[in-house]
Amino acid sequence: MSMAGAAKKEGTGPGVTDHGGGVWSIPVPIPDNPLGHTLVHLLDTDRGPVLIDTGWDDPTAWDTLTAGLAACGTSVSAIHGVLITHHHPDHHGLSARVREASGAWIAMHAADAEVVRRTREAEPTRWLGYLAVKLAAAGAPEEHLAPLRAARASGRASGQTDALPGTRAAQPDRHITPGELLDLPGRRLRAVWTPGHTPGHVCLHLEEAHPAAGEGMPGHGRLFSGDHLLPEISPHIGLYEDPDDATVTDPLGDYLDSLERVAALDPAEVLPAHQHAFTDAPGRVRALLRHHEERLAGLRALLLGAPLTPWQLAEAMEWNRPWADIPYGSRNIAVSEAEAHLRRLVKQGRAEPVPGTDPVAYQAV
Ligand SMILES: [Zn+2]
Ligand SMILES: [Zn+2]
Repeated sequence: MSMAGAAKKEGTGPGVTDHGGGVWSIPVPIPDNPLGHTLVHLLDTDRGPVLIDTGWDDPTAWDTLTAGLAACGTSVSAIHGVLITHHHPDHHGLSARVREASGAWIAMHAADAEVVRRTREAEPTRWLGYLAVKLAAAGAPEEHLAPLRAARASGRASGQTDALPGTRAAQPDRHITPGELLDLPGRRLRAVWTPGHTPGHVCLHLEEAHPAAGEGMPGHGRLFSGDHLLPEISPHIGLYEDPDDATVTDPLGDYLDSLERVAALDPAEVLPAHQHAFTDAPGRVRALLRHHEERLAGLRALLLGAPLTPWQLAEAMEWNRPWADIPYGSRNIAVSEAEAHLRRLVKQGRAEPVPGTDPVAYQAV
């Protein structure tokens, strides 16, 4: 596959965009998801093409990916390596199939590789038990816990293992080491650790000059940002769920620090894994920092009224629909997000647990 010219060209295939300088994006559909698609990126190297993320494990997604690769002038069998920004199934889902078809290696940050290992080996009833204990501690009502306990008691989930996303996810062959240049002949691509959305999320900084740099485009290279930095969406920040680790992590704090880290790189262009490419990364980071500060201040105001458990805080928070309309599984995600914000407020000394409460309630400081 030869290096493309500098100009960005649309319409070279099924939604494929040629970003110039040997970089393409292929929109791979995510079934039944409002996000629509994952932007899988293709990077030409002297040893063969490399993918950044692969897309959801689904026949239509696979067909779109292979057709997209053909439109870029290559094929899935030619793929030399796969770089994964984070373990979520809309990014890592098709990696196993790509490896089977090509013999490519798969690389991921060690912290997310650990999540993949844990998910593959997870015994479903143990996971249900962990979830029930965690949700009870967060103040979930009995009617929310009862189905979990029933499923665990009947061992019902064990027959569905294959249907759960992540249980068949590919274990990576190598780790992405933050700060280091990746072993990609002919390219300068550096891994930047950006924990928050997941514990091992990485952005990949293509340090070569942007193809439009000669025309006066400001900034340094291009950033493959995964889900860390998106043009119009604020990614979900919950807790790093790990039944084997009782460490009190601060994912929202990690995320905010990671935002500052990518703003400091000042890339000329951001190539995210959803929506569309954009410029002015520092401006987007400022908007997201502002958004989270407003949200934290709003939540602290809620805790000024009366002490709240994480569950009660989630009920009181603003979501994209009324709490009563939020489905069961999404409530678990919402509570995880409420807890991530509480952890941050506690860490900042703006909230504290009320002594002697069970489940623990939090009050503003
Ligand atoms: Zn994600
Ligand atoms: Zn995603």
